[in-house]
Amino acid sequence: MTAVFASNSTVVAAGSVNPGPHMHALVRELYPICRSITGNGLRETLRKIGERIPLQIHEVPSGTQVFDWSVPKEWNIQDAYIKNSLGQKVVDFRKSNLHVMNYSVPVNSKMSLRELKPHLHTLPQHPEWIPYRTSYYHENWGFCLSQQELDGLPEGEYEVLIDSTLENGSMTYAECVLEGQTHDEILISIHCCHPSLCNDNLSGIAVGVSLAQALARLPRRHTYRFLFIPGTIGSITWICRNEDSLSRIKHGLVLACLGDRAAFSYKKSRRGNAEIDRVVTQLLTEKDDGASVREFSPYGYDERQYCSPAFNLPVGCLNRSPHGEFPEYHSSADNLEFVREEALAEAFRFCLEVFEFLESNRTYRNLNPKCEPQLGKRGLYREVGGHGDAQTRELARLWMLNLSDGKHSLLDIVERSKMPFNAIRSAAADLQRHGLLESV
Ligand code: ZN
Repeated sequence: MTAVFASNSTVVAAGSVNPGPHMHALVRELYPICRSITGNGLRETLRKIGERIPLQIHEVPSGTQVFDWSVPKEWNIQDAYIKNSLGQKVVDFRKSNLHVMNYSVPVNSKMSLRELKPHLHTLPQHPEWIPYRTSYYHENWGFCLSQQELDGLPEGEYEVLIDSTLENGSMTYAECVLEGQTHDEILISIHCCHPSLCNDNLSGIAVGVSLAQALARLPRRHTYRFLFIPGTIGSITWICRNEDSLSRIKHGLVLACLGDRAAFSYKKSRRGNAEIDRVVTQLLTEKDDGASVREFSPYGYDERQYCSPAFNLPVGCLNRSPHGEFPEYHSSADNLEFVREEALAEAFRFCLEVFEFLESNRTYRNLNPKCEPQLGKRGLYREVGGHGDAQTRELARLWMLNLSDGKHSLLDIVERSKMPFNAIRSAAADLQRHGLLESV
């Protein structure tokens, strides 16, 4: 068997050490950091990722033109609060970094509640939660607080401080490249620009780090490229700087929102029938646990950029609850309790299965195509009528022999036979071991 992930047991072994506690620990470690699309919080996050996997860090100066966009000024924040007339902090950035609208320009002023209110953001339908708001491309300032906190503010004069800077600097992103036997690449893209939000942001980072650690220990046919980037501007910048080598990307996944309780949800690439779309759809169908597969839409995460018409890369997006479709989305309720170790671990194992399928999706030729070879004399067919697993194994061998005409890939055969990937893959291994198949 020449499959590069040496056998199914390799992946099982890689996935058998429960990575859930490690992933949740990383989520907890990164949770307090105030990240944004630029700045020291993003750098600190990438530094912590770089303690675990080999990273190339890139700094792109503010003002750099990337297609129709330009890299924004760098934003950093030290402190922020609103004090009431008694000098008490009624909103405090140090208690939650969500309290400040991300990319707020500096403010140091006194004002009435009426003047302050247009700068206050709440979620009236969830009166205890703090919303997450940004203003990257329009200079503005604001605070986010719970509706209950807002309702408790009396009329009076308030002292408002945002100790931030918005200056020329750079935007940071990172790549982890695991070279394979070929230059064919699998791209895994993960946004890391959100502050204290766990499912949307930190779950993807945690799963990505564990995947890179696991893949680094496995033989690889493909080269794996992990991108840890700020959303939108990060992927646009990366694509712009790597436009000449995009053809190496054979498959790709955007990973986000993988820690909540929902079943998996996969959004297909713009192509709709790319190998990654078919493989993920097949494996989700086999799981049979309520997972959903959606057609591409130009809204969501960075797949929007990879799937823009000039590039149309085979990149899909794997989530549990999709972008914007869970109540906790972009609020303080997307917290450490919302993401679960088991959910992260299952996402990790599922991604490894996807990679395993992509690694082993070869095409074979039946070396005995004139009628069926006699499987019984090779110990590949039952002596007495079989059932259950034995019958599945035999049926998979017959499908594999029949469709291995040098034109059908393992994926084609899995889809056509409606048999599980592992059954077809094992059949290929058995038949090859007995000299009945060769890889083309
Ligand atoms: Zn988000």
